Amino acid sequence: MGANAIGLLAGLAGGLVGWTLLEYAIHFWLGHLPRGRILTSREHLAHHADILYFTPFALKVRGAIPVLSAVLLGAGAAFGAWAGAGATIGIAAGWTVYEVVHQSIHVNGPRSAWSRWAARHHLEHHFRNPRANHGVTTPIWDLLLGTHVPVERVRVPARAVPSLPWLERALASGSTPEFLADYEIAS
Ligand SMILES: [Zn+2]
Ligand SMILES: [Zn+2]
Repeated sequence: MGANAIGLLAGLAGGLVGWTLLEYAIHFWLGHLPRGRILTSREHLAHHADILYFTPFALKVRGAIPVLSAVLLGAGAAFGAWAGAGATIGIAAGWTVYEVVHQSIHVNGPRSAWSRWAARHHLEHHFRNPRANHGVTTPIWDLLLGTHVPVERVRVPARAVPSLPWLERALASGSTPEFLADYEIAS
């Protein structure tokens, strides 16, 4: 394999790992800590106030362009153009996976053992402990930075059930999908 391909693949791997930290940083450091003083925080707090509110796609793209440009230029200057391109693709791919997973937690609900974990982890952040569980696709940075809370059952306030369409459907249908064991409806 040529040096360019190795640079591209190393950049890609670094970008995917780098995304997991960026995911934590954007959510906790830019979403929560500024308490609404910056747009990213206002958008995130709007999602907490109405968990079926998601920042419009065009606004997300506008936010992502400067971040991806900085990665392309910064990693390119430090490690070479191929590694910079790989890192940019890795971060963009991680970001896309995060967006799909996050929307899916709220809109589609759990469909596998992994997505059961992801839903518990993130919904605990929404309903009980907004200071914990900032990672959405991985708990690694919560574990490393001391903000991880393991969750067996999420207490969902009864009034919030309609904001989780999949949970509301499961409760109304009388079926008992396995994920129901992960939720306790609190009056
Ligand atoms: Zn959410
Ligand atoms: Zn949050």
